[in-house]
Amino acid sequence: MLITNANIGIPFAPNFIISEFWHGIDFELDDNLIKAAQVFRDWHKKPISIIRTYAPSDGWGYHVQKLAIDLSPTNVNEKVKFHNDYSEEILKYYKGERGGLIEKLRMLGITGFGIESAGNHFDKRPGNTCKITDKYGAFTIFVWDGYIDKTTGKVISTKNYSLAPKDLR
Ligand SMILES: [Zn+2]
Repeated sequence: MLITNANIGIPFAPNFIISEFWHGIDFELDDNLIKAAQVFRDWHKKPISIIRTYAPSDGWGYHVQKLAIDLSPTNVNEKVKFHNDYSEEILKYYKGERGGLIEKLRMLGITGFGIESAGNHFDKRPGNTCKITDKYGAFTIFVWDGYIDKTTGKVISTKNYSLAPKDLR
């Protein structure tokens, strides 16, 4: 769908309008990335803010390629719980539990799941760059500035990318 500064609704993402995905430049965004944002909205059951989509000025990464979205609860007081709940969903999926948030996103072709202090990142990176596999193909989990404690499932922020556990990528 063409993302532009239009204040109109999106049929397959009823809680969002097109301009929420727009940050100053018109661009084409994969419909499934928008549907995935709605999946997060349905899971959280409260307003979600789209904080980053296409970012051509980034040096590298999937925002440059129009393949990534960052989002966060609109109410900043919900942010820590949202982060922790998302990391728990990722960990459950990693351990083989199915039927939750992550499987719904996998069914939409989402392959990159990232936890960042600024918000939760997801993308559609090529499968051949991913190391974990499930019945939908290959995918990747990463923590940008911390790591997932495998015992508690909580995100531990370190602000140091190199400390992310390699086996969860
Ligand atoms: Zn991102």
